Formats: sequence, C-alpha cells, structure tokens
Amino acid sequence: MRERIDYLLVGGGLASAKCAAALRRSEAAGRVAILGAEIYSPYNRPPLSKGLLLGYEQPERVFVFAPDFYEKNEIEVVSGVAAVRLDVDEKVVDLADGRRFNYDKLLIATGTTPRHLASPGSDLQGIFYLRDLDDSLAIAAAMNPGSRAVIIGAGFIGMELAAAFTEKGVDTTMLVRDSGLFTKLGSEVLTRFFSDYYERQGVKIIYNDEVDRFAGNEALSGVVTKGGHELPADLAAVGIGVVANTDWLAGSGLEVDRGVIVDASLRASAADIFAAGDVAVYDDPIFQKRRRVEHWDNAIKQGELAAANMLGENRSVDYVAYFYSDLFDLSWEWLGDNSDIDETVARLGAGGRPEIVFFLKDGRLRAAFLLLQGPEEREWVERMIRTGVDLAGEVGRLSDSSVTLKSIQPEETT
Ligand code: FAD
Repeated sequence: MRERIDYLLVGGGLASAKCAAALRRSEAAGRVAILGAEIYSPYNRPPLSKGLLLGYEQPERVFVFAPDFYEKNEIEVVSGVAAVRLDVDEKVVDLADGRRFNYDKLLIATGTTPRHLASPGSDLQGIFYLRDLDDSLAIAAAMNPGSRAVIIGAGFIGMELAAAFTEKGVDTTMLVRDSGLFTKLGSEVLTRFFSDYYERQGVKIIYNDEVDRFAGNEALSGVVTKGGHELPADLAAVGIGVVANTDWLAGSGLEVDRGVIVDASLRASAADIFAAGDVAVYDDPIFQKRRRVEHWDNAIKQGELAAANMLGENRSVDYVAYFYSDLFDLSWEWLGDNSDIDETVARLGAGGRPEIVFFLKDGRLRAAFLLLQGPEEREWVERMIRTGVDLAGEVGRLSDSSVTLKSIQPEETT
C-alpha cells in the first residue's frame, strides 16, 4: 500500500522544517510530511557544540518550532524512520519499516554524517563524534572538569569542541594535521591569531600530526600519534569533516556527486525533486560555481527557496553564503567564498586583533571574516560581494580600522 503525500520532505532537520513552514505560509494545498530518521522533531544544531555542552542552553530549547506548530499547521512529522530507496519514475520513497510514500513533489534534505576515523582502537568507549542531539548530550555527560581530552581536527567542529571543553575545565589537547588552526580560512593572520588565542586560553596544540591509534581496553586511555606522542585521554572527540547522506539514493538514477546535484533553483536531475541544505550541491550564481554549503543560514534559505519553487516559482539562490561561530568569548562571521582569491587584506584592531579580513580577486571582494562586528559591517560586506564592486583603489582604507566601512562606497561597476 502506498500513501500519497503532496509534499514529501525527506530529512527531519532545519531545511525540511523551514520548507514545510514556508509551504504552509504560502497556503500549499494537500498533505505536507517531514520524514526523519531521528526520533526528534527538527532542531537547530549550532547549540549542540556550544550552549548545550556548556549547560547554558537546555535541550528543549533547541527545536526549530514548538511541538504544537506541526499539528496547528497540518504538517505531518514521521520520526525515527529512514528513507531507504527512491524510485524517480514511480515517484515513490520506501521507508525502512516497509511503508511506501508516493510524492507529488519531493525535497531531499538528509544532511550529512561525520567522517569517521578507521585507526586501530576507533571503537573504544570515550571516542565521540558530534552531529546530533544525543551525541551532544553524551559528550556533555563525559566532559568532566579535570578530565583529559584530545580533540582531533581543527575545523569548525573541532575548534568549537576545544573551546567548550577548555571552558568546562577539561585539560584539552588538539591534534591538528595542518601547520596551524583554521588553515581552511586561507589567511595566515587568522591562523596565527587563533593559534595564539587558543594557547592563551590553555589549549595545548600539536600541529602536523595525526592519530596513529587509540589506546585502551574497552574504554579509551590515550591517543598515540604518528609523530610519536602518547597523549593520556579520558575522552576524544573527532571533527574531521562530513559526508552527505545520499546512500539511500543509490540506484535511483539521480545525479549525486558529494551530495545531490541541483541547479540554482535547487531542482535535481529528475522531475519534481529538489534538494536543500547540507546535502545539496548547487549552482551558486553569485560565485558561478557548484558548491555545497554546510551551514545554518544556508539550510534556512534553501528550505524556503525550495518551497517557493515546489509551488511553481522559478527563483534562484540569491544570497551570499554566510555562517557564524562562537569560540570562547569570540563571535565571528564569514561571508562568501575564498577558494579563488589573489589578495588578502587584514583590518587589525587593538593589540593586532583581526577585526575583519577581506579576501579579494581582481580587486573585488569574494569573502570576508568578521570578528565581533555588527550588522552594518556585515551588510556592507554582503553588498560588496554581491555587486562585485571594484575595491582595488580602497585597499589602504579597507585595512585601516579608523575608517568606517560605510564611508567606503565606490561606484557599482558591474
Ligand atoms: P540536518 O540538520 O543535518 O538534518 C538532516 C536530517 O536528515 C537529520 O536529522 C538526519 O538524521 C536525517 N536523515 C539522514 N538520512 C536520512 C534518511 N535516509 N531518511 C530520513 N532522514 C534522514 N552552522 C552555522 O552556520 N553556525 C554554527 O555555529 C553551526 N554549528 C553547528 C554545530 C554542530 C554540532 C553541527 C552538527 C552543525 C552546525 N552548523 C552550524 C551547521 C548547521 O547546523 C547545518 O548546516 C544544518 O543543520 C543543516 O541543516 P539540514 O536540514 O540540511 O541538515
């Protein structure tokens, strides 16, 4: 027996929640259902590596919408069961429990899963990965003040975990494959700044090294590195990137490559199928490249954009990708894409702290890092990236923290 759902949203996360809400706001007719593998209704993940670990946010506060939102808006939530197969010709999704859903329009928003280490000892108790609410609660329970932890990886998750652990009084060592922290940001100024800052906060950092094996008997007792360090540890947390949840699409014929391939309007390679959020590899018209963005703001905007296009519009992605992070007392933001730049300009504040780092290509702003800045600076950066204004003659003023960004207003030339 097949149940017919007009708008079937697979993946019970942020993108699906925002898509469902937007569908109902636009008065979509018919059944709207969110199908999620987790037992929870959609929730926000940013607190999982911040407030929830530190105890200043409660688990019940992380949900995208209040529990009665779905019922009031006639959004069906099918939780705790995964989609296992897609048939694009029959327009059917098979569930792990044997149910089958026929869709009129389908959203794929199944997110990502942390990449796992396969080193010897990887299955010992006390080695954690962080993606979902249960992971966060388990880590919070294990991070006792005075315990010793090794954080593996210095990307967003590794950096946030190391900050939270240290703030909680855990003796924290970061094991980093690169020669600095956040090398992904592509700025030596930032790498140096974060390395110094973390060391001043008491984080020990081992660079240019990686896990050889985890030691212990059932439970973790230490991490042995390829460089020969033997680090005693009560727990380890691994943040070495993610892979898109697309296994269930195998054999469907849908185009998949590091995620579900969609165009700028989030349409996939088969009729009436859209993808949004972390799982979507989309054509970004602003940067004219195919990319996957694994951040909160992108999941919201793409969920809503997919809803509009499911209802017959033909809108394209029109925003500059954005994310934020909190590390110790530092809140920072990032806009744009720095994969193809030829100039980096740092605006340094008191004590040489980088307030803003601009990433340019041919004099045009492509990306920026903003530390503890306000909405005015963010909006200026967003506009400059979007319009592609020539800033080549403004480099001196960009680097001068006494000059307000709003006073830099070159003519829009594109
Ligand atoms: P998800 O939120 O991952 O939801 C996907 C859901 O689909 C999951 O519940 C998954 O279980 C489910 N699913 C998977 N496969 C199937 C299947 N076959 N069938 C049914 N359901 C399935 N971004 C920022 O910008 N700033 C931050 O500070 C920040 N902090 C973060 C901290 C953590 C710990 C994490 C994990 C992420 C953080 N992010 C942050 C990223 C942000 O949370 C994600 O970009 C966002 O959650 C993506 O939403 P999504 O709906 O695409 O995917």
